[in-house]
Formats: sequence, structure tokens, C-alpha cells
Amino acid sequence: MPFTCEVCGRRSVFPDLIPAVGNVLRCAHCAHERPFVRPPLLVVSGTVGIGKSTLCARLAGTIPGVLLLDADILAVDLASVAPPNQDYPAFWRSMMRLAHELSQNNVVVVYFSTMLPEQALANTDILGYFDSVHFLCLTCPSDVLWARLAGRDGSGAASARVNVWRDFNTALLAAASETPKATVVDASRTRDEVEKDVRHWINTHVRGSDSLRRDATA
Ligand SMILES: [Zn+2]
Repeated sequence: MPFTCEVCGRRSVFPDLIPAVGNVLRCAHCAHERPFVRPPLLVVSGTVGIGKSTLCARLAGTIPGVLLLDADILAVDLASVAPPNQDYPAFWRSMMRLAHELSQNNVVVVYFSTMLPEQALANTDILGYFDSVHFLCLTCPSDVLWARLAGRDGSGAASARVNVWRDFNTALLAAASETPKATVVDASRTRDEVEKDVRHWINTHVRGSDSLRRDATA
């Protein structure tokens, strides 16, 4: 367990973490240092209806060394985002801890979620568990978004919700322009084109990282 020191056996008390110092976890009690897998963390964001779930399903299992997860399925059950306590940074703290645990299996985690980069980046202490955190923001014009929501949920439901998701789309675009490690992808193109771009983005960050463990006998 990463949160228990294997030498002195003491634990860091939630929500504190065993701090990452470079590429080691250093026990706050006895200063024992342990190496850990420190890969990049990738997050694909975009408003509801933009095609994240489809993309996640299409890409899952097709990129070696990469674990894709729809984070929003977890948000449904977590108290941290259940009204009236919609604490999205706390949700992302949990998601980042989970990604750290999963990463120890020598994989790069890619989350798909309707989120804003600041919700993850607010957890500054846990950022050290990752080589870097990158965001891919799927955006599209509001008329395209409306058509997609109407196609999926019917025009009545789409009309009721499109303003919320259009506003989110606008906020995400603004956030992307202020976030250094954010890439904007136009999701109004065909699914094949968007999938190709997202796959390329993932591959670039996985190949560009030398943080995964290599098999010494290979
Ligand atoms: Zn210790």
C-alpha cells in the first residue's frame, strides 16, 4: 500500500499523502525512500453529448500500456460530487489517488470526464505523483452540440439542457487557453477523425515518457 511505510509501518493519515520527492516516495516519519512508477496522467474532457463515451469505448484495449477509464461513472456514487456538496477538486483528488494506484501496474491512466482542468490541478500535493498532467479538451460549435443532444435525447430534452452544456463548452475552451498542458480538439468532425487525433495525443505522451518500468530481461 503506497500510504503505509514498508519500513516503519506508519501511515499517512487521510487526506495527507506520503510525499513524492522526485521519483521516490519519502516517509514523513522515518525518511525511508521508495521508488514508484511516475507516469503522466491524461484527461480527456468535453461536455455531455460530445462523444467521450464512444471514444473511450473505441480506444479501450487498443493501446498497449494504457488504461482508459470513464471517470464520470464513478462520480455518480461519490459523495464528494452529490448535491449540495459538489466538491469537484475533492473528486479529482480521489481520481488522482486511484490513477496513482493503477499506475503502479506500469500503465498510463487516461480519464474521460466532463471536468475543468483546475479541478484536478487544485490538488497540488498529488501532482508530484505524476510526471505531468495533460488535458485534451473536446469542443464543438453549439449548433452541432444541440443536434447531437437532440439526436440522442430528443429535441425537448436537448432544448432543456443545451444551455448548460453550451456554457460548459465555453468554459472549457476558456480554461484550455489558460492551461499550458491543454490541447483542443474539434469534435464536430467525424468520429474516425476525432478518434485518430485522440489516439495520436495519447501515443505521443506515452511514448514521450520514460517513466514506466522496463523489463530488465527484455
Ligand atoms: Zn517510515
